[in-house]
Amino acid sequence: MSAKTRVRFAPSPTGPLHIGGVRTALYNYLFAKKHQGDFVLRIEDTDQNRYVEGAENYIIEALKWCGIDFDEGPGKEGGVGPYRQSERKEIYREYADKLLDSGNAYYAFDKAETLDYHRKNHEAEGKTFIYNWHNREKLENSLALSEKEVKQKLDAGEDFVIRFKSPASEILHLHDEIRGKMEINTETLDDKVLFKSDGMPTYHLANIVDDHLMKISHVIRGEEWLPSLALHQMLYRAFGWEAPKFAHLPLILKPQGKGKLSKRDGDKMGFPVFPLEWKDPNTGEISAGYREDGYFPEAVTNMLAFLGWNPGTEQEFFKLEELVQAFEISRVHKGGAKFDPEKTKWFQQHYMHEADNVWLAEEFQKILKKKQIEGEKEYVEKVVEIVKERAVFVADLWEQGSYFFIAPTSYDPKNTKKAWKNGTAELMQELKELLKNQEDFSAEKLQTEVKTWIGSKEIGFGKVMQPFRLTLVGSLQGADLFLIAESIGKENTLTRIENAIKTLG
Ligand code: GLU
Repeated sequence: MSAKTRVRFAPSPTGPLHIGGVRTALYNYLFAKKHQGDFVLRIEDTDQNRYVEGAENYIIEALKWCGIDFDEGPGKEGGVGPYRQSERKEIYREYADKLLDSGNAYYAFDKAETLDYHRKNHEAEGKTFIYNWHNREKLENSLALSEKEVKQKLDAGEDFVIRFKSPASEILHLHDEIRGKMEINTETLDDKVLFKSDGMPTYHLANIVDDHLMKISHVIRGEEWLPSLALHQMLYRAFGWEAPKFAHLPLILKPQGKGKLSKRDGDKMGFPVFPLEWKDPNTGEISAGYREDGYFPEAVTNMLAFLGWNPGTEQEFFKLEELVQAFEISRVHKGGAKFDPEKTKWFQQHYMHEADNVWLAEEFQKILKKKQIEGEKEYVEKVVEIVKERAVFVADLWEQGSYFFIAPTSYDPKNTKKAWKNGTAELMQELKELLKNQEDFSAEKLQTEVKTWIGSKEIGFGKVMQPFRLTLVGSLQGADLFLIAESIGKENTLTRIENAIKTLG
């Protein structure tokens, strides 16, 4: 095994990358960076039937958005490329031949109909048809046919596959970095197809050959590949190569806990299962993405990191660099990880509050522009600082802070009923006079002045503050009232009070 830590993320471009795939990429990335290693992106596109237009770009863009940079991959040569399996076609046949020569693989010419016939027959008897040691001598392959017959078939251009010859009965000792030791009897394994006559390898062959040629030291992938581990281990042995270490990540479960998280769960409960929005090139159907829904990449990577791993401390907020430091593969859980959409929002809220005001203001200005509001940079930054505590997404800034830019055009009826009583108009008139005379319109000064005045009138604080809020905001919600007055300024404050008196009487 190479001394350097080298891991790979090896998605098949068959559609948008599910967030489970993003988690696999993330854990690989964290592991590589933690050990000063390389993170390789390899596109496994040997199955031409399942190829989906745009999927590879989507994968690359999704990783980029998350900040999961690859050291080598398509467009980023590192000496062991190309990194798309479709561009490595010529390589695989040579390795299939090696296995044929060493007796670890054989040609099989069985027609699809013959295999179907056997499958159905077995099913009818409540059994499963497995192509392996117990029947392979009776089927149409190079183990059963004479050398001459095989040559004839090959020369005649008959369709064939190359199958792995798995041992009849052997106990294999497997090791997984997360699950520990496992034993498996080869008795029930089928002789998997490694190569097809269309000149393409199957996943198993291409994956092993590439991991070897790309000097991969650790294979970190989803639990769904655990059943392939025995075959992969046997392939390494057959080639005489040292196998990498393996770690199989736990499944991501539905929020209810049972079963794998699916796109349908997301649709039903209103959360995305994809990092970016995806438009299906065939159906035109659009699937929601975290980016387009307003999540920050930090929130998504933080959430994904905790889906199957924890640092063993109380700390929950981790930026990517911090995850690199804290990540330990031995702390990855064996059991499935329940997906929790609320937790994602919670992370998002945290990073929203932490976000830089200058950047937030720029984002907010884009929203304002669409509403034909020219918010000055400094003013917008001030508003952002005040309202971001109440926002989860950038888009919430408008809902939480629109009154900093536009005067209320209506007043919430319920709130009005609660706050606007007999005599309120007169009080607001008095308040207006008081404010008019203020030279210093800072929040602090206003607060002292207004409170002193209310005190001198010997009335409840709320009697003034609630209707005052209604005049400025249009409801009883919002930020600190004196900060609002200070921000919108004296003139606007007085006009808004005036408007409310006119409208509410
Ligand atoms: N191409 C496989 C996938 O799409 C890769 C599995 C592996 O990492 O070995 O998941």
